[in-house]
Parts: sequence; structure tokens; C-alpha cells
Amino acid sequence: MNGRKKATPAIYEFGSEYLKETYLKPAIRGEMVAAIAVTEPDAGSDVAALKSYAKKDGDSYVLNGSKTYITNGTQADFLTLLARTSDDPGYHCFSLFVVPTNLKGFAVSRKLDKLGMRSSDTAELFFDNVRIPAENLIGVEGEGFIQQMQQFQHERFVTMPGAYVGVRNAIADTVEYLKKRIVFGKPLITKQALRHQFADWLAEAEALRQFTYHIVRMKMARMDVSKEVSMGKLISAKLIQKTLDGCIQMFGGAGFMNEMPISRAFRDSRLSSVGGGANEVMREIITKMEGI
Ligand SMILES: Cc1cc2nc3c(=O)[nH]c(=O)nc-3n(C[C@H](O)[C@H](O)[C@H](O)COP(=O)(O)OP(=O)(O)OC[C@H]3O[C@@H](n4cnc5c(N)ncnc54)[C@H](O)[C@@H]3O)c2cc1C
Repeated sequence: MNGRKKATPAIYEFGSEYLKETYLKPAIRGEMVAAIAVTEPDAGSDVAALKSYAKKDGDSYVLNGSKTYITNGTQADFLTLLARTSDDPGYHCFSLFVVPTNLKGFAVSRKLDKLGMRSSDTAELFFDNVRIPAENLIGVEGEGFIQQMQQFQHERFVTMPGAYVGVRNAIADTVEYLKKRIVFGKPLITKQALRHQFADWLAEAEALRQFTYHIVRMKMARMDVSKEVSMGKLISAKLIQKTLDGCIQMFGGAGFMNEMPISRAFRDSRLSSVGGGANEVMREIITKMEGI
């Protein structure tokens, strides 16, 4: 999973020219690795429960706390990090920062061992009196929560084309396997019960693709897409998990073997209903925005 797509939109939208020159452009050129650091041991779905604190001190902020499940955490050159900057209640007490990982007091406490997405590193991070230069504040102090919620929209949106491609690839691989696999004297692909499942998944994938284009058109018209992106993320996660579960079944015992690409795709797909906001969180947003 690429942390860059999750960590840089806020710099583009709210960051100063200095931050764009120093971090955004090198990240886009592939010269710097970025990570988004929001989740904490006691704050995942409930982002506002986060405890990391950046206290203003002269021309810097002193950061203490920890983050977990951070993609690219072991190799990032900088983090886009959300921390508390005041004790005020509500949502206007958080700020977003660019935190270079070469600052004193930063440590990778643990590289995590995962079920899937094993080609990408995920880590626990620790901050002990890390002095962040004040110029690394992204946008306005106290508005970081709102800025991060907007940044999540980008991360959630890209799950849609990702799921579409994942579903199409899984179907293509499975069809190829079923053409060659002879069971009861015939290739498995001749079984209507299996072929019809592909039809269902392909129809839903096409609906997902068209919904993706619909959101793109809404974005181009500068409309608010929060509800539609939450719907798209939810649909994507459900579709890719359902499809991969069905495909691995069609592989029989072979699908359970780690050497099979379908096995890896199945494991990787498990993240889609949790990472970037769980399905239940998407449902909360949708129902709230529908006034239910
Ligand atoms: C591989 C991986 C990579 C990640 N990368 C990053 C990263 O780069 N940066 C980052 O900041 N975070 C990252 N995360 C964290 C991810 O965003 C969180 O795991 C996710 O938001 C869920 O938070 P949580 O794990 O604390 O689950 P919790 O908040 O403890 O929730 C657990 C479960 O409870 C249910 N639940 C939650 N809220 C509700 C509700 N309102 N109603 C009903 N049920 C509910 C859901 O099923 C949810 O999965 C990553 C996670 C993983 C696994």
C-alpha cells in the first residue's frame, strides 16, 4: 500500500509553499517516502480520541506520544501526523504536521507482522520530546482534524478503482484456472453454477466503475462527495472480499496454498473493510449524511 497517496493531499491542499517545495515535490518525484500517522493504540475508528500532544514552545512544537499501524513507518522520510495541540474539547484542538523522521526523539518501536499486504511495511512509532519546527505546521493550528477528514476522502476514493481492478484480475486468474482444471471429466469452467457467479461479480464491478466516474464528475463540478466516497469505499470493500472469497473457493485446495497468487489476493483483500475507515464507520457517515 502506498503511503504517499494518503499522506500528501493535505500538504497540497493546506500546506505552505515551503512545505510543498521541501516535502510534496520530492514525494511526488519518488525521492522521499511519506507516511500518514493518525492511528494510535487507543484511537483508530474514533480519531478524536488520539492522545499524541504537540505543545508549542517558541518556534517549535514539542511532540510526545505514539502511533500504530503506520504504513511505510519503517522507511518514511517524513510523516504527515495528527496531534493534539490544545486541551479544548471538540474538534478544533488538533493540528496536522510534517514530521521528518530524522528528528531527535523519533523511534520506530516495532515493525508489525501482518496477515496480508506483506510487501508493505507497517509499524509502531514513538515520539519522545520531538521538536517539530513551527514552519512544519500544515495549514491552520487547531484545524488539523477537519483537514485530516478531507485527506481521508482521497484515501477512501482510491479504494474504488483499486477494488475494481482487484476484482477483474481475480476473476481473470480464476477463469484461466477453471479452464484447465478437469473435474468429473470436464473443465470446471463449464459448470453454470460457477460461471453465473462471475456474471454477478462482473455486473457489480461495472456498477462500481460507473459510480467511480460519477464521483469524478461530482468532484470536477466541485460538489461535496463525502457521502458518495463513503458509499464507494463500503461497496468496494464488500465486493472485493465477496469476490476473493468466491474465487478462492473455486480453486479448491490449491487456493489455500501460499504459492498461489489468489491466496495472497484473498489475504490482502481482508484489509479493505478496516483500513482507511472500517465499513461500520462508512455506514455511520452515510446514515448521518442521509439524516437517519
Ligand atoms: C495494514 C494496515 C495499515 C494501516 N495503515 C495506516 C496508516 O498508514 N496510517 C494510519 O494512521 N492508520 C493506518 N491503519 C489504521 C487503520 O486506519 C485502523 O486500523 C482503522 O481505522 C480501524 O481502527 P482500529 O484498528 O483502532 O479499530 P477499532 O477502532 O478498535 O475498531 C474495531 C472494529 O470495531 C468496529 N467499529 C468501529 N467503529 C464502529 C461503530 N461506530 N459502529 C459499529 N462498529 C464499529 C469495526 O468493525 C472496526 O473494525 C492501518 C491499519 C492496518 C491494519
